[in-house]
Amino acid sequence: AFSTSVINFGAGPAKLPEEVLQEVQRELIHYGTTNISVMEMSHRSADYAFINDSAQQAVRDLLNVPDNYKILFLQGGGTGLFAAVPLNLISETGCADYVVTGSWSAKAAKEATKYGKVNMVLPKTDNYVDIPEQSTWNLSPNASYVYYCANETVHGVEFPFIPDTRGIPLVADMSSNILSRPVDVSKFGVIFAGAQKNIGPAGVTLVIVREDLLGKAAVTCPTVLDFTVMAKDNSLHNTPPTFLIYVMGLVFKWIKRNGGVEGMQKKAIQKSSIIYDVISSSNNFYYCPVKNSFHSRMNVPFRVGGPNGNDDLEKEFLSGAQKLGMLQLKGHRSVGGIRASLYNAVTVHNVETLAAYMKDFYQTHKE
Ligand code: PLP
Repeated sequence: AFSTSVINFGAGPAKLPEEVLQEVQRELIHYGTTNISVMEMSHRSADYAFINDSAQQAVRDLLNVPDNYKILFLQGGGTGLFAAVPLNLISETGCADYVVTGSWSAKAAKEATKYGKVNMVLPKTDNYVDIPEQSTWNLSPNASYVYYCANETVHGVEFPFIPDTRGIPLVADMSSNILSRPVDVSKFGVIFAGAQKNIGPAGVTLVIVREDLLGKAAVTCPTVLDFTVMAKDNSLHNTPPTFLIYVMGLVFKWIKRNGGVEGMQKKAIQKSSIIYDVISSSNNFYYCPVKNSFHSRMNVPFRVGGPNGNDDLEKEFLSGAQKLGMLQLKGHRSVGGIRASLYNAVTVHNVETLAAYMKDFYQTHKE
């Protein structure tokens, strides 16, 4: 009853569209008419300029990025940006607001304390299951920026709204939900995303920054993380991760061919509903601790065998899934259980296969 081919539900690095991998394979040794690989090509060449510019333009088109924003391709991953954000922005007032709704925003807040004063907007918790009402948030009047993580990859908590910061620049980590839904970029000061979940291989980070926020970097900001330098030099200040930017550009084209961000959103709603429906109709055999309105469409964490999970059942669930070719379903080591990541490249059919397995496992293992 189940598909026998492999399905990758990994949280990142994650599944890429098969068509993109095939294109990469076809062009690996001879890119276009160059007779060399993109990997071997000068980042100062006209061919690479085309790759760089078209990837930028694709982001602009897909997200309707307004003209007063720069699009950068940096290195250092999401974690690099945890430092880059305060290094570029915090000097304005020396302080920033952090909305911590999961382990990734917690890490970002901790990193920022190296560079300035961090105000925690929400009461401290390590039980990340919801997002408190905005009216209860403790925003400070003198923050240089307000930071949040749009989708918490480990805890499966996704913002269903854009925070209102009353004019203070808003910074969002969209590493795990970028290009999975339309976003009004004009509401943000900075958006960043490590590529390795929704848009490409690990090693390149997409940054979208509003121009009026440039020119404020701390003198100690490393050049490679300096938004102003990178914007001025079109992400070509030093050698960029050329091959990764090329692959990311192919993913952008694939998204365009598949209905753009609206198309991705439609599929994301459909795919995540399939799994949440199986969970909610399992009489707590499957259990997702996150409150419904903050359910992530990208990462669905759940326990097997009741709200606290049952170790033996979870092991059996994972090995059964593995035997059927469903890979990387293990929850993050900090929370345990299962996590199904349903990024753009995961198909509806892939998710139906997982849902069928979950239903079957439930029928054969319920009390
Ligand atoms: N932010 C989010 C939401 C993530 O899921 C991750 C995960 O890997 C990171 C940041 C850290 O990114 P990196 O591993 O590229 O440093």
